[in-house]
Amino acid sequence: MSKLSIADLKDLRGKRVLVRADYNVPLDEKCAITDETRIKETIKTIEFLTERGAKVILTSHMGRPDGKRVESMSLRPVAARLEELLKRPVAFVDDCVGEKVAKTVGAMQPGDVVLLENTRFYTEEEDNDVEFAKKLASVGDIYVNDAFGTAHRAHASTAGVCKFIETCAAGFLLRKELKFLGEELSSPERPFLVILGGAKVSDKIGVITSLLAKADGFIIGGAMAYTFLKAQGFGVGSSLVEEDKLGLAKEMLAKIQALGAKFHLPVDHIVAQKVETPVPGQKKSKVEFKNPHQSADASIEVGFCGVDIGPKTIERYRAELMQAKTIVWNGPMGVFEIPEYSTGTFEVARIVATATQAGAKSIIGGGDSIKAIKKAQVGDKVTFISTGGGASLEFLEGRELPGVAALSDK
Ligand code: AMP
Repeated sequence: MSKLSIADLKDLRGKRVLVRADYNVPLDEKCAITDETRIKETIKTIEFLTERGAKVILTSHMGRPDGKRVESMSLRPVAARLEELLKRPVAFVDDCVGEKVAKTVGAMQPGDVVLLENTRFYTEEEDNDVEFAKKLASVGDIYVNDAFGTAHRAHASTAGVCKFIETCAAGFLLRKELKFLGEELSSPERPFLVILGGAKVSDKIGVITSLLAKADGFIIGGAMAYTFLKAQGFGVGSSLVEEDKLGLAKEMLAKIQALGAKFHLPVDHIVAQKVETPVPGQKKSKVEFKNPHQSADASIEVGFCGVDIGPKTIERYRAELMQAKTIVWNGPMGVFEIPEYSTGTFEVARIVATATQAGAKSIIGGGDSIKAIKKAQVGDKVTFISTGGGASLEFLEGRELPGVAALSDK
C-alpha cells in the first residue's frame, strides 16, 4: 500500500492521536449493542497506540441523526463496551468539538483513551465543512483512519481533517480491509467466482463491470437475477425487475459472453404471491407472500414472484463453488429475512464455508451476506468478513475511497 500505515509511526509517546473509528454499530430499543464486531476490530489499533504511550482520541459517527443531537444515536454505550474490551477507562465527552473536548484532551496522560460524541450531530460532518474539520483536527498531532465502513464518504472526520494534520495513517483494520479486498484480489487464485445477490442490478453493475476481466464466473441470486432473466426473454411474473436496466443487462450479458466468463443465473426458484395490505396510520404497507411453491424451471408464472433460488440452482451453485479457489460474496439469494425464503442464502453461506475449508479463499461483504454467514454459524470458517458494506462495494468497483486518498503517502 502506498499510504502511510500505523505500523510506520514512530515516537508516539505523549502524542495526541485522533483515531477515526467506525462505531456505527446496531443498537436495540434499549440502546444495547447487538453486534460489536466493529468495536472489537479497532482494539488492535487502540492498543498499539496506548502501549506506545500515545493519547488516543476516538471519533466516529452513529446512524443518521441529520445534524441534530439524538440521544438514541449517542456513542456513550460504545465507550462502556470499549472499557470492558480494553480493560482500561475510556472517558466519554458528549460533544466532538469545542471547549469540553479541548479541556478533556488537555488533561490526558500518555496511554489515556477518550471517545468523542457522534460527529453526525453536526451537519458540517457530512458537508465536509472546512471549519468543522479544522476544529476536529485541533485535538490531534497525528490522525489514524480505521473506519473502513465510512472510507467511501468524503466527510469532515474521514477526509477533511487530513488537510490540518500533517501525519495521517491507515489503522490496522483499514489496512486489513484494503489487503483482502484489494491486494489479494489483484492476482486471485483461479477459478475466481463472484456471488452477487440482493435487490438491485443497479447496485451491483459496477462490481460486475470492474471484475469482468478478472473473474472466471459470476453466480447470481436475489431479485437482481430477474432483471437478467427478463432480459434473456424468460417469464418473471411479478418479480422485482428494474425495467430501466433491461437494456444494460442485455449489454452486460453480451459483454460477458464475448469475454468468455461464465454467468450463472437461477434455473429454478421459490415463488410466491406478493400481497400488500395498507396499515392504517402507517406509511409502510404489510407485505405477505402467499401460496409459495417451487417453479418448474427458470420461468416464473404470471401473478407470482421469485423470493429465493430453488433446489436445482443451489446444487448447480454448489458444484461451481466447490471448484473455486477465490470467492467474493455480496448480497442475499432471496428474501432471507423471511425464514421460508432463506434456504438459498443460508445454503450459499454453508457452501462458501465448505469451499473455504477445501482450500478456497473467501471474502464476504455487505450487511446481509454477513448476517447470513453469522446466522449459519460459519463466521469463523470463511477467510475474511469486511466491516464495510457500501465501502466494500465501491472498492470492488475500483473506485478510489476518499478516506484512503486523503491519508499521507508513505
Ligand atoms: P441489497 O441491499 O441490494 O443487497 O438487497 C438486500 C435485500 O434484497 C434484502 O432485504 C432482501 O430481502 C432483498 N431481496 C433479495 N431477494 C429478493 C427477491 N427475490 N425479491 C425481493 N427482494 C429480494
